[in-house]
Amino acid sequence: MFESLIKWYKDFFGIQDTARTVSTPSSQPPQSNNAKADYHTLGGFNLGLGAIGPANRTDVDQAVLSNMYQTIASGEFNIPVNDNVPSICVDGRCNKDGTREASPSAAGGTLSIVYGADLGGASTSDDTSEIMLATRIANTLKEKGHAIGVHGDDHSNCGCGACAKVKNIYQHIAEKINDIVSMTSQYGITLSQPEKDSIVQHAQNRLNQPDFFAEDRSSVLQHAQECGSMYEELIGAHNELGIALNTRPGTTIDRSAIRAKYGPQYDMFVVDAWTFANAAKEINTNENAMTTELIAKAITLQNVATASVLGHGSLRIIPIS
Ligand SMILES: [Zn+2]
Repeated sequence: MFESLIKWYKDFFGIQDTARTVSTPSSQPPQSNNAKADYHTLGGFNLGLGAIGPANRTDVDQAVLSNMYQTIASGEFNIPVNDNVPSICVDGRCNKDGTREASPSAAGGTLSIVYGADLGGASTSDDTSEIMLATRIANTLKEKGHAIGVHGDDHSNCGCGACAKVKNIYQHIAEKINDIVSMTSQYGITLSQPEKDSIVQHAQNRLNQPDFFAEDRSSVLQHAQECGSMYEELIGAHNELGIALNTRPGTTIDRSAIRAKYGPQYDMFVVDAWTFANAAKEINTNENAMTTELIAKAITLQNVATASVLGHGSLRIIPIS
């Protein structure tokens, strides 16, 4: 049953990729510098409340940017990973030594699974606080042999936007569910009205629950480390210019290699969407395929909403299939 869910995700992404290729005018070769016009932006879906994005940058070259998008889309920067659930953050920055862990990425690292589980309805009555929920999910993932991880940065109390702004992200999902789903449906992830209603209800319940979310956001990162999370301290300012939407199983995108080719100011958010159904399966306690599917969709929405809260409407979405 689960394999069919993975296939469902892959098939939908595959259909989108085929449709995109077919819709490219034959007079325009795929390597054309105009290809960036083929990529959706967050703004195209009425998303992108934040500041991170190419429209706010004076230090990037548009021709280089177009080349970078196409090269990322070609799969040139895909590198193998050893796990099939996300454990590092989508954040495009690197550690002090210029590297990142070669692990799958989602918004907040393991916290993406925590919030996705919550929004997807996989919380239990024992999950009375964010910390309790995060502990249970972390332990479940560890028991199943998965790496877990979070990050901060070198200048913030809580340097992970997915963690620092979790309430804004839940609020964003509640308010903009139709715009968010309009975007995901472009990539084959559709939600029924009852599915949307369920996720919005879970988001609103948490926002209305006093003291569920930790006041001190850095305490969530600290607690995750005490639970065994690997920790990355990322360096410097956000320079992300797009969102790499990676659906190629067994891989992530090599951020260091992108910088080596284009320059230190050329970063990308990396979303390893192929991992979301795996993560949902691993933390769903009732083994019901419908529940697993809803959790996978909730993880997807948490990733889009994080990008939309932190990122500018000019961020392009670059699928890699
Ligand atoms: Zn982060």
